[in-house]
This record gives sequence, structure tokens and C-alpha cells, in this order.
Amino acid sequence: MTPDRFDHDFWMESAGAYVLRAMPADEEQGFERHLTTCATCRDQVEELRAATDALALAAPPVVPSANLRARVMQVVEQEAALLRAAGPEADAPVRPVREKRRRLSLDWLARPALAMPAIVVLLALGALAGLAGAGALDSEPGMRSVRAEVNERVAPNALVTLEMKDGQGTLVAERLPEPPRGRVYQVWVKRPNLDPEPTSTLFAPRTDGSAAAAVPGSLDGMEAVIVTHEPVGGSPRPTSQPIMQVSPAA
Ligand SMILES: [Zn+2]
Repeated sequence: MTPDRFDHDFWMESAGAYVLRAMPADEEQGFERHLTTCATCRDQVEELRAATDALALAAPPVVPSANLRARVMQVVEQEAALLRAAGPEADAPVRPVREKRRRLSLDWLARPALAMPAIVVLLALGALAGLAGAGALDSEPGMRSVRAEVNERVAPNALVTLEMKDGQGTLVAERLPEPPRGRVYQVWVKRPNLDPEPTSTLFAPRTDGSAAAAVPGSLDGMEAVIVTHEPVGGSPRPTSQPIMQVSPAA
């Protein structure tokens, strides 16, 4: 019943799981042995590895890709766990096991040329579609509020406004999610013809999701206030796409 471990038919669907490191260790070793004898599988591993590397490069180095990766890995690991539970010596016929293996390799990994761009596009769309719904709000005397554009993919229910008075601004947020582990929200200011400049304002929401973060300096002539996820302690350069942004002049 146990397939010949050196049989290409047995291993041909394994490259995806192998590249994702989703195989049980003994199976991984078996596949690596097979790789030494099979150029076809070696080529497939190379191809998939290039595709996953490209995904890592093409995808913005941000939360969406981390979340996506986590979700993909969760599916892969669940399937791997199912496979392990079934056991290689399970009395089932070979065919169902092989169907499992096929799914475990994930369709999009098995066809990187088609599927990888789709995922990158998905991320890009998510980032773009999320930046919607800006607009000025009514305000009390002497204060002006402008609604920030929020990346809905990262903070789907967040409501963020820039409250301005006497040239000073404060970002006020509700329903803001916790930043990813080891990260905080960082405020950046963008002036015309300049790159976004980091500010010393780092923040995280309270447990109820609310937050207030002062924008250092004057808002006069400022093009945009931007917020990203950055490592605790802040970053001199943005390492994520904007989670939110708002133009004081809007
Ligand atoms: Zn092979």
C-alpha cells in the first residue's frame, strides 16, 4: 500500500507544500531525497519558490500580506494536520490521500503564473479600495474636522478624523484595531515635494478601540497626515502602506 517513496507519481504534487514548509519532517526528507533524482520536481520547486519569493517582494511589506500569509498557512497547516491524522499507513485507498495532497499543494501555488498576480492584485485592490470615504465634517466654532481615509483592509470599521484648531491637529480614532504584535501606529507628515517625514507620535488604541494622537508641528501648508504600522520605537522610513491618511486642507 505504501507508495514507493522514489516514485515521481507519489511526489509530483508535493512541491507546493514543500515550498511552504507545510510537510511533516519525515515526508519533507523523503521529498528531498526524491528531488535528488527528479529534475521535474526540482524544476517545479524552483518555479514555486521563485513565485513565492516574487509574492513576498511584490506584496507590500505590510499587514495585509502578513495576514494573508497567516491565513494561507493556517489552511495549509490544517490540511497537513488532517493528513497526519489520517496517517501514511491508513487503510484508505491511495486515491483519497492523493487528492488531499493535491489540495495541500494549493491551486494557486501549483499555477503561480496565473495565481500569483491575482493575489498581488487582491492586495493592491484591498489597499486602494480601503482608502475611501474622505470628507469634511461639520465642526464646533474654531475647530475643523476632516475625515481620514482609512485602509479598510487593515482597519475595516475604524472611524478617524483629524481635528484642527489654531493650526494644530489631533487624530481621533474609534474602533481602531490593535496594531500587529510588535508594532505601533506612527504618524507621518507629508509636505509638498517632500517625502513623508516621521514624527515622534507613536500610538496604540485603548482597549475600546479609541485613540487620540497629536500631530506635532503646524498644519499650515501640510499636504497630508499619514499613519502607518511601524516597529515599536518608530521608524525613520515608512515600512507599511498607509493605514490612514488625511489632508488638512480637504
Ligand atoms: Zn518527481
